[in-house]
Amino acid sequence: MTATTLLQMAERDGVRVGFSPSGGLKASGPRDALAKWLPELRAMKPAIAAAVAQVSDAARRCGVCGQLAHFGYGVRLRQGEEGRWFCAAHRPPVDGTA
Ligand SMILES: [Zn+2]
Repeated sequence: MTATTLLQMAERDGVRVGFSPSGGLKASGPRDALAKWLPELRAMKPAIAAAVAQVSDAARRCGVCGQLAHFGYGVRLRQGEEGRWFCAAHRPPVDGTA
């Protein structure tokens, strides 16, 4: 499983993953979803950080307010698709097409 796939699967369960400015992995969401995904997220943290850094190098901005965006949607790195990006306040419902 790639880090990107892991992020998408966790996100489908309502888990939000981001990184603090100091580089720490931050995840929030339903308790049972966190219990399910956090160990895997932690185990793959370096790969996740690399995947996130790959797309955040260009300083992704929220499509609504223009602030730094930590949540990408429709991101398929292998296909070179960068998807749409949103900050925590403007991220769309998780129910949307992934
Ligand atoms: Zn925003």
